[in-house]
Amino acid sequence: MKIKKVEAFVVSHELDEPFHFSQWEYQSRKICLVRVTSDDGTYGWGEGYGPAGMIKAGIEFFTPFIEGMNPLEHETVWQEMYSRSLDYARRGVMLAALSAVDIALWDIKGKHFGLPVSTLLGGRKSEYVQPYASGLYFSRHKDLAVKLADEAVMYKEQGFRGIKMKVGLGVATDLKHITAVRKAIGYDVELMIDSNHAYSLREAVDLCNRIEDMGISWFEEPVSPEHYDSYKQLREKTNIPVSGGECEYLRHGFFQLFNNNSVDIAQPDICAAGGITEVKKISAMANTFGVDLIPHTWGTGIAIHAAIHFLSNLDISQERMHRPIPWIELDRTENALRDILTEPLVSPNNGLIKVPEKPGLGVDVNMDMFEKYLINDQADF
Ligand SMILES: [Mg+2]
Repeated sequence: MKIKKVEAFVVSHELDEPFHFSQWEYQSRKICLVRVTSDDGTYGWGEGYGPAGMIKAGIEFFTPFIEGMNPLEHETVWQEMYSRSLDYARRGVMLAALSAVDIALWDIKGKHFGLPVSTLLGGRKSEYVQPYASGLYFSRHKDLAVKLADEAVMYKEQGFRGIKMKVGLGVATDLKHITAVRKAIGYDVELMIDSNHAYSLREAVDLCNRIEDMGISWFEEPVSPEHYDSYKQLREKTNIPVSGGECEYLRHGFFQLFNNNSVDIAQPDICAAGGITEVKKISAMANTFGVDLIPHTWGTGIAIHAAIHFLSNLDISQERMHRPIPWIELDRTENALRDILTEPLVSPNNGLIKVPEKPGLGVDVNMDMFEKYLINDQADF
């Protein structure tokens, strides 16, 4: 079996209502997908996380080196891509390109053997994953605290058992928003906060001090991902679990987080940190250090399905009869690329998602929608 064709695509959805977080505003959702086809016609889909046009260029860079290789030997293909980019791409979009191809190879391998990716990974230790609603972004609404509280109540009513909200507008404003949301949803739904590295250590400590008694399940990316020691210092000053890693890459990057005692929860993005192949290795290291792992997940049904299979196979540190169901991040912002580009639609039932048993990732692209959202001919990142 040989890799015959590697095709990278950029799909885009212009949003009806722009939204923003602590760093910048989204006007559209652009995502790079890859379709790898083998000489027997079996194809697999993958996805990269990051600037779509640059990831597409990265995939096109890798393509001549991996065409003709055996798609079932995903570690061999991974090593070829890694070796070809190591000298100038130890972090960033080239690794997102590598990740996208890696995910597509797992999809091919599953289809070839007639097995779901979770089985190829070693089996399902959990039959279900538990989505938390990732939303509560900022908008130009005249009373944002009320808007955020209403949105959180909507997720609770939809059956979500956890909700993550954005912070990073300044400690006083964040405090107002968190207080409003917690009051609206009560304490029977978990609440997480994410500042997208908006704060200095001093500001992050200040915010933690003010919300210590509000039952926050984790504070995500409180400070710059470059400041491993600030993460560690924050953990020493608060009881709120600290998470991070969506801007981290490869086992080597995560080793720094783990070895510095920087996080309670590591959050690699499977579509950026090195694909399923590498994040499985990162998860083994997290387990060794006693650190929890909940991937950052953002994008189409391809990214979500990759995370579902990965999470179902995740090692569980706490040996006990009643184990926690793994959390999966489920972005709730406006995104047609998540809702109608791929099939089947990921929809929780009673607050849970059953791990698919179809061969491969168990997701496919609707080609009519694909044509609608494809923008390959535009130089647009
Ligand atoms: Mg985040």
